[in-house]
Amino acid sequence: MSSIGALWTAFLCRRPLPPAPPSFFCRINSHRIPTMAGMAQYNGSSPDLGDTNPSPPKSPADESEWSKRPPYSIRSPEEFGPVKWRGKCQCGQVTYQLSRDRPLKSKFCHCRGCQVMHGAPFQWAAIFHKSDLAFTRGAEGLTFYSSSAGTREYTLPTKVYCSFCRTPIMDEGRNVCLLFPQAIESADYDGDRKHWREAFEIDCHIFYGKRVLEVPDGKPKWSGLDEQSDLLDDEGRKKE
Ligand SMILES: [Zn+2]
Ligand SMILES: [Zn+2]
Repeated sequence: MSSIGALWTAFLCRRPLPPAPPSFFCRINSHRIPTMAGMAQYNGSSPDLGDTNPSPPKSPADESEWSKRPPYSIRSPEEFGPVKWRGKCQCGQVTYQLSRDRPLKSKFCHCRGCQVMHGAPFQWAAIFHKSDLAFTRGAEGLTFYSSSAGTREYTLPTKVYCSFCRTPIMDEGRNVCLLFPQAIESADYDGDRKHWREAFEIDCHIFYGKRVLEVPDGKPKWSGLDEQSDLLDDEGRKKE
């Protein structure tokens, strides 16, 4: 990293952050701990992203062992199963594969944290089980940032980046991970991108109240977290 980059990062890390209002950030980009809801629909289990869990990790050893479990552990092709998608960072140092056709859920998150941290109007996130994902290259070349803990040590929930080009790879919670469909390779060569777009089509928008633009796609739009806030129309008006 350049010295200016390092200084800037140090500056950002030292700055005390003001407390956020309750529904300002999504789960990963949260300095608060909202309650968990709306994700209990997956297979009867309740995968949560971890930052919604008010209790500390089960044991510190669980987190220190992170490199030995999915998605970081090395698994044989037999263990992993058929590869459905491949993804990579911009520079190619980090590559990964997915064993699942479609995410558990896909969302556009318009929260301020996602806008700032992705440098984008909103974040497109696809939720997967951690075991659906395996790194095929560069798992050792990852870097982390936990906004809730304010650290670049590996602490869940965390954002995960390529250490070289800094492409966001995923947001990892304690139970599931959020991938960014833009990094899926077939988006490069799949002619009209139909299969890719259909597979990662979003279910809803969250934090639409913080949007920088309207998205008239007719999808459910929540003012904050899904199932825990008001439903809005495409123009952001509260629905009756
Ligand atoms: Zn967000
Ligand atoms: Zn990279």
